[in-house]
Amino acid sequence: MIQNYEAWSPCGRYGVRISAQVLQKAITFCKNNCAFETGGIMVGYYNRRQNCAIVTDCSGPPRDSTCKRTFFRRGIKGLQQWINSLWYVKERRYYLGEWHFHPFAKPNPSSTDICQIKSNAEDRSYKSPEVIMFIIGGDPKTKWSCSSFVYSRQVGLIELVKGWERNSFKN
Ligand SMILES: [Zn+2]
Repeated sequence: MIQNYEAWSPCGRYGVRISAQVLQKAITFCKNNCAFETGGIMVGYYNRRQNCAIVTDCSGPPRDSTCKRTFFRRGIKGLQQWINSLWYVKERRYYLGEWHFHPFAKPNPSSTDICQIKSNAEDRSYKSPEVIMFIIGGDPKTKWSCSSFVYSRQVGLIELVKGWERNSFKN
């Protein structure tokens, strides 16, 4: 059974919430692409206190993505239309960050991952001041694990850990 995922920075300034349904969707993309890295973007909104990213949906890999055994570069095909439709047609959802999969490996960010998240965070065309990076590792069919990070333009990369919820979440 997949459960809702919630993790926070120890300072309580940054949090992320991913529903079991969205997590299940990402895991299914991993299962379907098992031996190769895959990923996509995460969309949603921030809570009223502006300290927790609520992920309401994720994409799979756009068609122009590069999926190798130990490398993933997310493409862009079709994403802008999707993001526009989430903002204008639906309920003001927007880009929150990225997720990707490390097949049969730990969900630890590589130096490439850190560079990519940094450049996404510094891309001012995104609405969010911070960018979430969510990594799934292991075997999506049996035993997987995940980790999450936020990249803040001011502070840099911060790991979000489970178990700090008591700090923080209020709508
Ligand atoms: Zn990676």
